[in-house]
Amino acid sequence: MKPVRVVIVGGGFAAVQFAKTLRKKLSASECEILLFNRENHLVFHPLLADVAGASINPDAAAAPLRQMLPGVGCRTERVQRIDLRTSEIEFDDGTSTLSRLHYDHVVIACGAESNLGIIPGMTDHAFGFKVMRDAIDLRQHVVHQMEHAEAASDTDRRRWHLSFIIVGAGFSGVELAGEINELVRSSSRFYPNFRREDVVVTVVHSQAQILPEVAPPLREFARKKMEKAGITIMLNARAVAATHEGIELDNGRMLRGGTIACTIGTAPSPIIQELDVPKERGRIRTTADMQIEGHTNAWAIGDCAYIVNAFDNKPSPTTAQFAERQGRQAALNLVRVVKGEPTQPFRFKALGQLCSIGGYQAVAEMFGMRVSGFLAWFLWRGVYLFKLPTWSRRIKVALDWFWDFLFPRDLSFLNTDATQYLSRAYYRPGDFIHRQGEVARVFSVIEDGEVEILQATGESPEANIVGVLGKGDFFGEGALLGSRPHETSVRARTPVRLRQVGSALFSETAVNFPPFRELLSNAVIRRTGDLWRRLPLGKSILDRESLESLLEPLPADILSKSSTLADGIRALRENPSGELLILDEQQRLWGTLDRSDLFQIFARIAVTPPHQEENLMQHKLSEFVKENPLSVALNDSTAVAFATMLARGVTWLPVVQSEAEPRTVGTVRGERIANRVVQKIARTQADHTRAAS
Ligand SMILES: Cc1cc2nc3c(=O)[nH]c(=O)nc-3n(C[C@H](O)[C@H](O)[C@H](O)COP(=O)(O)OP(=O)(O)OC[C@H]3O[C@@H](n4cnc5c(N)ncnc54)[C@H](O)[C@@H]3O)c2cc1C
Repeated sequence: MKPVRVVIVGGGFAAVQFAKTLRKKLSASECEILLFNRENHLVFHPLLADVAGASINPDAAAAPLRQMLPGVGCRTERVQRIDLRTSEIEFDDGTSTLSRLHYDHVVIACGAESNLGIIPGMTDHAFGFKVMRDAIDLRQHVVHQMEHAEAASDTDRRRWHLSFIIVGAGFSGVELAGEINELVRSSSRFYPNFRREDVVVTVVHSQAQILPEVAPPLREFARKKMEKAGITIMLNARAVAATHEGIELDNGRMLRGGTIACTIGTAPSPIIQELDVPKERGRIRTTADMQIEGHTNAWAIGDCAYIVNAFDNKPSPTTAQFAERQGRQAALNLVRVVKGEPTQPFRFKALGQLCSIGGYQAVAEMFGMRVSGFLAWFLWRGVYLFKLPTWSRRIKVALDWFWDFLFPRDLSFLNTDATQYLSRAYYRPGDFIHRQGEVARVFSVIEDGEVEILQATGESPEANIVGVLGKGDFFGEGALLGSRPHETSVRARTPVRLRQVGSALFSETAVNFPPFRELLSNAVIRRTGDLWRRLPLGKSILDRESLESLLEPLPADILSKSSTLADGIRALRENPSGELLILDEQQRLWGTLDRSDLFQIFARIAVTPPHQEENLMQHKLSEFVKENPLSVALNDSTAVAFATMLARGVTWLPVVQSEAEPRTVGTVRGERIANRVVQKIARTQADHTRAAS
């Protein structure tokens, strides 16, 4: 008889325990087991904090699946789709097409993904804490911060480099804070320019207590010990944004720090999002025996599954302890199904909780007993050592821990070249992206939001706004191409999201791609610094000229988000200036439309076939027009508006009341500004001539 083919998706705690148990119970002739995991190893999550804190080496917390699971077909491939209807999986084997494989039973054990996107700016500025890469990157970064702090001449900057923020005070947040605190404080003796007291480790937690999973006395013990070790714990504080400078809290306070680690936020894996099965908060609902509701050959276990524990009728928590037990019991149930026996519900009494808090201290709740302090720490290490999957790993970790006990932690790091990177950044209104005089390190493209360009000159050392840039604009190229410090500062005017290219990667692209180089040179020529140096009289005239005096009222025809292409064409025909605004219900600017846009729209339609010619005119303008166009505010000077138009290559701009009150009040046109300057220059010259004669 052909062996039953069981495909396991995932290679974490649940999957490994499932595969091990099944292999023990059914021989290769009875059952073929194929396990698909993105990595070729199991990540031992409880030790990730030790990796980040440099107390063990990364390979000690990653156990190779192949060596752990003899008799199981281990495949390092990503499963892209599970088709429960045809009993097939689709996976990426590195060729140009996806491969398909039929199964008799599928076991979904793909865990959950970390999701930093729940807080603006977290993805750009914080480290996640879920996969091995996160722990390794964090360790490199922490050591790098100590090196920067040592070299910093400015006290404020040094303090920033030595400030570490951990978001979330569940198990992983508390363990991570303890490890980083231990690493940085214990290493301070190797850095003559800073002391233990200069180090600030802060845990930000939205609830009233840390470690919600453990008993109140242990929580209290953990909090006191952590505070004694120098860790600041901020309770009832919620992070609402992350930027390059630190995090913003819900009470408006800014917590500054050069390192942010975010231990909260998970999302279901994409293959689960796609599955059309009953779910509870993104997790797959299963029957009591862990089969997916409505299916007889599909199972779900571990963090990706919503399994009610028959022991207490509560949903299982997302812990390794439960994942392992589910893996074991689901495998036994599958054996029962193969043998035609009745299955059993998942039932498990939790063994306890263990959490290390750094400094050889831990809290533990095991078999109804509560232990804290060094004894709990010893227990914690003993239990995890025992739980490690192979003897070679146990010995490796034991040696690492022993080494860590006797000798200082390893402070070497691999110096990866940050100038070669492409990254993202998020800034809040008022944050400086760079300051005049600073060394240029990145080229930035605005993905969303607006920035203002400021410049201080010999005559006016107080920095003045000289231009505004918006979505699609870029900056930083002048200083990078000219290998000189920034001649202007750039400050976020609204929340801003940037795409940034490191200096080396930028130079390489600029040298090797002539069209890009040309685009940059044109931008440099247009940029304001040179313009005002050449036209100082024009600048002083425009600085004194209020934007209000040149404001053109709102056009009679105002378009809305629901206006069609036909509405736009009609309004342009009837509007002599050919400049139209698209406003929302509160008169806030949503988009703009002028004749050149219309040409672009038709050019786009020509290359995107899905638009049907017959109902083309009924398409909404919002499909074609870019959201949030650049605008200037009434309190900006006319010089700012003019420079912005030149830098952008546009002839008009919408005007809003102010940044705080973004109600659209009219438009301003370059031609009118230029006329005013010419008239005033002519009048000034005539005055001079008259005075001279
Ligand atoms: C930092 C940290 C510390 C923790 N500490 C503890 C602790 O002390 N005690 C405790 O009990 N629990 C702890 N946990 C929780 C515990 O690690 C999880 O509950 C457990 O890992 C869940 O096991 P799992 O098998 O469901 O998923 P995971 O262990 O997450 O494994 C899922 C696997 O599926 C793979 N995968 C995902 N999608 C695909 C795909 N499409 N194709 C192929 N492979 C895929 C992933 O690469 C991953 O290897 C911690 C978690 C973290 C993040």
